[in-house]
Order: sequence, then structure tokens, then C-alpha cells
Amino acid sequence: MKYSYKTHEKRKPSLVRHIRRLALLALVFIMFYTLFMFAGGRPQVSEESLKALSLIPAEKTYQIILDKPVREIRLYAQQGQEKREVYVAKLSSPSKEFSFKLKARDTGLKDGEAVITLEVSSGFLSKRSYSVKAVVDTVPPKLSLISHTSMPSLGGSCAIKVRVDEEAQVSILQGNNSYSLYPMGGGYYAGLFPIRLDSPNPASLTVVATDKAGNSSSLSVSLKLKPTKFREDKINIEDSFISRVIYPLLGEEGKGLSPLEAFRRVNEEWRAKDIKGVEQIGKRSEPRVLWEGAFLQLPNSKVFATYGDIRHYYYEGQKVSESRHMGFDFASVERAEVPAGNSGVVVFTGQLGIYGNTAIIDHGFGLMSLYGHLSEIKVKEGQFVRKGETIGRTGTSGLALGDHLHFGILLQGYEVNPIEWLDPKWIKNNVESVLEAK
Ligand SMILES: [Zn+2]
Repeated sequence: MKYSYKTHEKRKPSLVRHIRRLALLALVFIMFYTLFMFAGGRPQVSEESLKALSLIPAEKTYQIILDKPVREIRLYAQQGQEKREVYVAKLSSPSKEFSFKLKARDTGLKDGEAVITLEVSSGFLSKRSYSVKAVVDTVPPKLSLISHTSMPSLGGSCAIKVRVDEEAQVSILQGNNSYSLYPMGGGYYAGLFPIRLDSPNPASLTVVATDKAGNSSSLSVSLKLKPTKFREDKINIEDSFISRVIYPLLGEEGKGLSPLEAFRRVNEEWRAKDIKGVEQIGKRSEPRVLWEGAFLQLPNSKVFATYGDIRHYYYEGQKVSESRHMGFDFASVERAEVPAGNSGVVVFTGQLGIYGNTAIIDHGFGLMSLYGHLSEIKVKEGQFVRKGETIGRTGTSGLALGDHLHFGILLQGYEVNPIEWLDPKWIKNNVESVLEAK
């Protein structure tokens, strides 16, 4: 028998076929609409916000950032069989950012593993939930002081060693400055930091240890500082000096400036900018000790200026400017060979404002040495140099009156008193003994 579907179909009224087609079209439309709402229309939480939920310390402020505004977020925590709601926020007007503080113990969370579920929604079809494996750790690290330089001086260096009972980030806070300590193994952390001349309270510092979850402990340390006297010099600025040194240094920048303005531009603005530049370079230190014993002084040299000297500048009988000398000035013969003060890696060579042609060597552990006013540099950035190896020749580049070497010791990028680092006994008693203490 011949079966004819077509003949049968043809018999159906055209209106029914029409309705069928319309219904199919509507179905396809609804499917696409739903798909769109689920894929593109639902709110999405940033990776960063989810990552922050994976470590739960005793107390923390969480930030939930979304790609589109939502009205409601809910946070659940599951530990074992127990699932509890730990946070709810319902807003009258939707937002893309939520910030809230959680105290883990107040919400009933116990130390250990947990699954955190975050639900975000702004109504029907725009709900989303995320699950994050988390660790709850509400116990702060135990921090104890092992040793520190017993009597550091103002402008000098200080070593410190502490012990922490778990893996942590350890740093020293001194006024607005913060310095990281390096892990030494066995829970020990140590570092070197400057007793800054510009610190309002240089004798007091705080050691802070923060564990992986974000719990922190702190320890206050009160240092006894060795009294230090600084030299004061009166320097007369002559026009001949300004035209011979200052204008050539300024180049184009000096055009239109009076001699006094030109001097101040270099002595104040450039100095401040160069100190910041050195501070940036000083942060690139290796986390291990590369130096060995005391630093070398420029051979057969005399000291012409010391650390911390306060300089009062006079022009035509009036005091016009002031500065602080932050290193040692050594002078020998002209174009004298300059040895590397100690072993390390060259981290900078080039022009550095008032320092002129400069080389900086990293000795690790936050310690560097700076060689300014050079006429020639014989080393390259990245090169390892041994103590005593010639790195260049002295000169008059930068803000210099005559041929000399500006020798600076940088600690965490800040110029400290080099005299301590020229003295093997001081290093042994104040740095090595601290770093070796148990
Ligand atoms: Zn100098």
C-alpha cells in the first residue's frame, strides 16, 4: 500500500498550521530569552572577592564586587554537617559593591575547613551562587623578640631578630615607614632598618606579624639611642660656583632662573627628588646577605664631610638654604680608583641628579652602598662585584665642589651613617651577633 503523508497533511486547515508555527516560534523565543538571562543577565562576582572568602581570620572586612548591581547577598558556611547563615544584606536600591566585617567566632565558625557559599540575587532569573573552599584560622601568630642592636644611634643602623610560631609576613613599623623582615628558617625573621633622622619618634617601633589568614600580632620595642652630635657648617655660595656647577647641572631647566633660584632648585628640589629616586632603587635588595665583614674606605683618602652634617648656605650675606649631608665625602688624588666597599650586585649605574654619575651596589638584606660624583664607571647593572674590585674613578659630576667620592650606605633605601659599616667591631657586635642570636 502506498502511504501518502503529504496528501493527509494537505487536508489540515491552514489556520491550525499557522497557530502551530506561532507556538513553535514563541517556544524558541522563550528558550533564547531564558538562556540569555542565565548566561548574560545573571550577576557575576569578581575572582578577587571570592578569593578573599577562602581565608577567614578572627576578624576581617570582606568586599564583594559584582559586574552588575544586586539587591541581596547571603553568605553561608558549612562545617561538617552544620550549615549556617553568616551574613545577609538586603538593599532597597541595588548595588555593585558590598563591604562587611565578619568576626568569625561571633558567627559560630570554628578553626578548620569550611565551605562558604555566597548567593547574590536581584530577583527571579538573576540569582547566582558560588561555593568556595575556605580555611578558618582565628589564632594570631605568637611573636617574640629574640635580639636587636642594643644601642643604635640616630641616623645609624639597627638589626632585629624575632621568632614567630607560624608562617607569617613580618615587618617593622617606625612612624610612617614600614620595613619587611626576611625569613631565616626555623620560625626566625630578621632585618636591618634605619634610625631615620626625620622620624618624629625614632626610638619607638612596632613589630607586626601577619599570618596567611590575616591574623596579626604586634610587639612594641623601645630602643635606647646613643646620643649623637652632628656638625654644622656655614657655606658661602659664590656666583662663580653657581655659573661653574649649578647652571651646567640644570641645563635647559636653568634658563630664566636667577643664580639664587638656580641654586635652590638644585639644592632643594633636586635633592628631594634624588633622595626619592635612591629610595626606590633601595627597595630592590636581595633577601640574603652578600656582604662580608667591614666596608672599605677609599684608599689613601681624607674625610672631608661626615654623615648628618647640617649645612647652612649663605648668599650675599643672607642665609638662603639648608641641607643635610647623608654620607661621607672621601678625597684622594684626582680620578682615584674607587673600590667596591663590599661584595654585592651592581643595581644602578648612571646619572642621579645631585649625586652625578653614580653606582649603587646591593649587598643584600636591604643594605646597599652608593658611590657619587664619579668621572668614570667601570661596572654594569646586574654585575657581581667582589669587595675591593675597582668599580670606577672619583670625579666632580653632580653637585660637587672638587674631585671627591660621596660614599653612602643605604638601608632600605635610606642613607644611614656609613661609619658603623667601616668598623668591623661594630658590625660584629651590632649586626652579626643579632642575626646569629637564637
Ligand atoms: Zn657628599
